[in-house]
Amino acid sequence: LAKRLVGTEKNIWVDISKMAVAHNATNLGQGFPDFMAPDHVVQSIKDAVADTNPSVHQYARSSGLPRLVQTLSKLYTPHLGRAVDPMTEVLVSVGAYGALYCCIQGLVNPGDEVIIIEPFFDCYQPMVTVAGGIPVFVPLRPTKEGEVTSSADWKLDSAELASKFNSKTKLIIFNTPNNPLGKVFSLEEMTEIADLCKKHDVVCISDEVYEWMTYGENVKHIKIATLPGMWDRTITIGSAGKTFSVTGWKLGWSLGPASLINCAQVVHQNCTYTAPTPIQEAVARGLELEISRVGTPESYLTSLAQELLPKRDNLAHVLAGLGMKPVVPDGGYFMMADYSNIDVDLPDTDEAKDFRFVEWLIKNKKLAVIPPTAFYSAEHKHLGENYIRFCFIKVRMVNHL
Ligand code: PMP
Ligand code: GLN
Repeated sequence: LAKRLVGTEKNIWVDISKMAVAHNATNLGQGFPDFMAPDHVVQSIKDAVADTNPSVHQYARSSGLPRLVQTLSKLYTPHLGRAVDPMTEVLVSVGAYGALYCCIQGLVNPGDEVIIIEPFFDCYQPMVTVAGGIPVFVPLRPTKEGEVTSSADWKLDSAELASKFNSKTKLIIFNTPNNPLGKVFSLEEMTEIADLCKKHDVVCISDEVYEWMTYGENVKHIKIATLPGMWDRTITIGSAGKTFSVTGWKLGWSLGPASLINCAQVVHQNCTYTAPTPIQEAVARGLELEISRVGTPESYLTSLAQELLPKRDNLAHVLAGLGMKPVVPDGGYFMMADYSNIDVDLPDTDEAKDFRFVEWLIKNKKLAVIPPTAFYSAEHKHLGENYIRFCFIKVRMVNHL
C-alpha cells in the first residue's frame, strides 16, 4: 500500500455491510432507499439508454454533459441568487464522493489545515490526509438532556470554533443537513462560520447532498454560498443519488466560482475524466422535468421530504419505546439515538463501545446500524460512543423493529 494511504485502510460501509450480509441482518446502517425512484426518473434512464443518438453513449465533455450542466445552472440559479455559468461554474463528477475528492485534492497543499465539524461524513478525513492536509476537528456538542431531543440542540461552541482558524487554514468542510446527525444549520450559525472564512481567507466546501430533505415549516435549508461575500470562496456539492433516491447512479456535482471549480476540474480530468454519459443524460432529463414541476404537488424535490417526515417520527417513537433516546433530525435521512439505557453485557475489548454494541445488535438481533464513532476523530470519539445511527428512508425498517 502506498505510504500516503496508510491509516485509511478501514471503511465503515465496507465493514458493516459485510457483517450485515454475513449475519443476514436487516441493514438500517448504510443510507440508501429500498424503493424505486419516481416513475419519470426511471423513464429517463430507460430513454437515455434507448437513445439512438450515438453521442449519448460516448465520452461526454470532461466537466459535464452540456445538457446536464445547463439544467443544473437553471435549477440552482434561483437558489443561489445569481446566474450560474454552466460552462465554467459547474463540474459533474462520479457521485458527491467524486466531487469531494476532486475539490479536496485540487485545493489542499501538504501542511494545509482543514477544519472538519464533528460528527462528519467519514470520507472527509482520509480525503484530507491523502492530499497531505491536516484535519482540525471541532465538535458539535449536545446542549440538552432528555428522552427525546433535537438535532438543533447540538451546537458548536463559538470560541472553540474561532480558535481552530489560523493562517494555515485552507478549507472548512461544511455539511448541512448533516450526516449523521441531521442537523440543519441556522442562518446565525452559518454567519459565524462565513465571517471566520472571510476573516482568515478560507475556502468552504459545502456538502449539501441532503439539501431537499428538511422537515417542518420552520426548518429551511440555507446555502452558505448565498451569504454575503461567500460565493467567491464556496464550492457547493450535490448528488443525484440523494436527490432522486438512486444512490447507485453515482452522479454528483460541484458549483462555485470558475477559479475554484477549475482546481477540481484539473483533478477530475486525470482521474475519471468524465462521468458516465447515459447517467448524465438521464439526470438532465429528470431534473428538467423537476424544474417544470417546482411549486406543484408533483415535485419530487419537495414530496420526498413529506414522505420521510412520518417515517422519521415513527422511528423516533419506536426507539423511545425500546428505551433509547432519539435525537430527532431536522434534515437528511438518518437518526442518532442514545442506547446507553439498554442493558447489554458487551465484551471488554479495545474497540469503541458503539462498535461493540453494533456487533452485538447484528449478531443477536439481526439488525445492522452504524456506530457513530466512525464519524469522530480519536480525540472526540467519546462524544459518539453512546449513540447508534439509523437510516429511516428504508420502508422495510418499520416491519423489522
Ligand atoms: N456526502 C454525504 C454527507 C453523504 O452522506 C454521502 C453519501 N450518501 C455523500 C456525500 C456521497 O454521495 P454520492 O453517493 O453521490 O457519492
Ligand atoms: N452516505 C451513505 C451513508 O451515510 C453511505 C455511504 C457509503 O455507503 N459509502 O449511509
